[in-house]
Amino acid sequence: MANLFTILSLAIAIVSLAIVLMLKINKMKKLQAIVDKLKKSLEEMDEQAKLIVRTDIELNKTHEELDKKITGLYALQRLSRIISTTMEESQIFKIIESTSFEDLGFEKAFALLWDAQENNFIPHLSIGYLHGEIEAIKPQVNSDRDIYLDLIKAGKTFSSISVPHNAALRERINHIFKVNSFVISPVLPKEGNKGFFFVGTENTDIAITEGDEELLTILSNQLGQALENARLFEKTWHAQQGLEKKVEERTRELTLVLEEVKKISKRKTDFISSVSHELRTPLTSIKGYASILIEEKLGHLPEAAKERLEKINRHSDELVHMVNELLDIARIESGRAVMKMEEQELKTVISNAADLILIQCKNKNIELITNIQKDIPRVLADRVQLERVFINLLGNAVKFTPENGKITIKAHTEDNVIQVDISDTGIGIPPESLSMLFEEFYRVDNPINQQVKGTGLGLSLVKHIIEAHKGKIWAESKTGKGSTFSFTLPINE
Ligand code: ADP
Repeated sequence: MANLFTILSLAIAIVSLAIVLMLKINKMKKLQAIVDKLKKSLEEMDEQAKLIVRTDIELNKTHEELDKKITGLYALQRLSRIISTTMEESQIFKIIESTSFEDLGFEKAFALLWDAQENNFIPHLSIGYLHGEIEAIKPQVNSDRDIYLDLIKAGKTFSSISVPHNAALRERINHIFKVNSFVISPVLPKEGNKGFFFVGTENTDIAITEGDEELLTILSNQLGQALENARLFEKTWHAQQGLEKKVEERTRELTLVLEEVKKISKRKTDFISSVSHELRTPLTSIKGYASILIEEKLGHLPEAAKERLEKINRHSDELVHMVNELLDIARIESGRAVMKMEEQELKTVISNAADLILIQCKNKNIELITNIQKDIPRVLADRVQLERVFINLLGNAVKFTPENGKITIKAHTEDNVIQVDISDTGIGIPPESLSMLFEEFYRVDNPINQQVKGTGLGLSLVKHIIEAHKGKIWAESKTGKGSTFSFTLPINE
């Protein structure tokens, strides 16, 4: 019994132990699972931490690049602003040379333009090179000229990063320009020599980026544009200089011609004036003697002789009239005639002149109409001379207007002048004669002129009087329909 009890107790103890063991194993398994999970989480966290560090490094790099780019862009903007307002080629390169180029991230720069005549690239700018180095670079670039000419032709920027497939070319450029990385961009002005812009650095830590390529492309474009502007400015300047020289020459020539014309004109005026004076004395005697003879103070004359003497008298009157008109023209032309400038009521001047031709109008049944603007201002003029103008123009209008016609006198203000128009319904003037009307002795060959005498001096005198009043005169006409003579006088302020 006691044994049985012992065995039973042992069995119970074994079973209990087994149960406890199983429970422990279970627990351990659970713990192991938890440990595994924790381990995995830890590994994941480690991965993430590594990622964060990596991202941070990347971010720092991007930040640095951004900083570099912003500094570069600022420098570029400053440079662009200055060179775009510079109009001299050499000055443009000087300004770039004086720029702190390191702001753009490079300590070395070189610009060469192709000179077709020399068949060579000529350096126009160098930064970061000694004189000897520049001299050494020049022939090397020129021995590789085809590479650079192709670059200009292609019009594309390239750099150490964009030519990895051509390591030989990269090494050659690095060697010639003594750098470890570079960017080269074509300079393509539409006017003037094309070329290329090189920037580079010896610093192996600085890696060329696409941003650097963009930056140099912009700078090269700006340089090209500035060179083009300078060339255009130079061209315009030269053209202007040439033009100014021509204008000066022409002015000199014209002044000489004008002086010559003035001299000739003075000689003509003096001649007319002295001839007229010379003519006046004998004419007065002829007229005097003819009058004595007509009045039969020296004895009776036959009718035929009297008739001839009256003709002599009439012709002498016409000659005196002509001589007087010539003398007047000469006096006004030479500035010897003094105009008595006084304020005149145009209405009065016109009505005085109209009174004088009223009888002739009535004889030919010509209607005379005056149309003067109501508030027309007074004019500053010599009354006698102004009346002469109206008498001459109205006299011609009556002379060249057939019976039952119409003459109109209009006066109105126009801008800062008074304009007078005298129109008639007469025979008119052929267009080819209009420009010569105001010349001395010019008369149109028309049926009226063949019958009625005239001197061809009236209109010339009128023109001289109007111009002495600082006015202008012109004529418009339609053959067979009529003519209008217009003149202006300045308004007296
Ligand atoms: P004249 O009347 O003595 O011939 P003018 O100098 O006054 O000289 O005129 C020159 C010419 O202009 C006239 O001969 C005439 O042919 C032309 N002419 C002037 N006024 C008129 C007019 N109103 N109608 C037609 N022809 C005119």
